Amino acid sequence: MNQLFGHEATLKKFAESLAGDSLHHAWLLYGMKGIGKRTLAEKLAGLLICDSQTGCGECHACKMLAAGSHPDVFRLGLIEGKRDLNIEQVRGVLSFLSLSGAESDRRVVILDDAERMNKQAANALLKGLEEPSAGSVLLMVCSDLERLPATIRSRCMLQPCAPLSDADVGTVLQQQENPVQAQYLDLAVSLADGCPGAVGCLQDEPTARALLEWQDLIADPARADVGNIESWIRTHVKTVPHLLIARMLAQAVYPVLQGVGDAASFKQRELLQKALLDCIRWPGDVVRHSLRAGPALLACILQLRSALKAI
Ligand SMILES: [Zn+2]
Repeated sequence: MNQLFGHEATLKKFAESLAGDSLHHAWLLYGMKGIGKRTLAEKLAGLLICDSQTGCGECHACKMLAAGSHPDVFRLGLIEGKRDLNIEQVRGVLSFLSLSGAESDRRVVILDDAERMNKQAANALLKGLEEPSAGSVLLMVCSDLERLPATIRSRCMLQPCAPLSDADVGTVLQQQENPVQAQYLDLAVSLADGCPGAVGCLQDEPTARALLEWQDLIADPARADVGNIESWIRTHVKTVPHLLIARMLAQAVYPVLQGVGDAASFKQRELLQKALLDCIRWPGDVVRHSLRAGPALLACILQLRSALKAI
């Protein structure tokens, strides 16, 4: 099982309610993608099924959990290539919960990508939430709380999960199976913004190198060389994640925006803010309006340059 970083307070809270026999039967772990919510859910399941209720990692139950073969733990999530979690999948959960535990008196379900349940699936799950069977615990993992019906949310113990500290992000990125190379680690940590999962692509050396080049190119956005930027975009826009291209751009512009102070008029500042917002929105706009990514990004940068030069 993956090692868990951060989320100590949640583990403690869960362990305490378990020890105090006041554990809620449905926990909803929510927060940004890529911060370890799924790993946290596995740890919580470990507390539930471990022979000593500590998630020791050594006992028979913990070993089965780690191997994914514990008969009292059921996992489901979005199947690759599918749009949503469907009612058949949720029915599988409900019938699992209605059985009594094989190895323990527990039944634990880890439901990943909860926000991707379609309407029928969510309605079916609701029934299970209203009439929980004894000893069953549902651990839901969700990265977009707003997409879950209010009826589901209101029946769960809502547990926010915070992004990780930079130190933890650095450790995760170095300890993962395919670590980020040392020379790209600072870059990866700053781009991750607390979510190691967001910078998984930096394990790939050419992508990491491309992002480092991008950082140099836009370090001083007002004086950036448009020809070089255009050629970088042409080469890399198809392979480097748009979110990271935009995030890096925003990181270069924020300090400028904060530093302009009285030097800029209200109008100038407003133009700069709009240009920055367009850069941040570019990845979403490309998808929403089926824009061509390269030209749209270049347009954002030109707008940004002229807003900066006007000051
Ligand atoms: Zn154990």
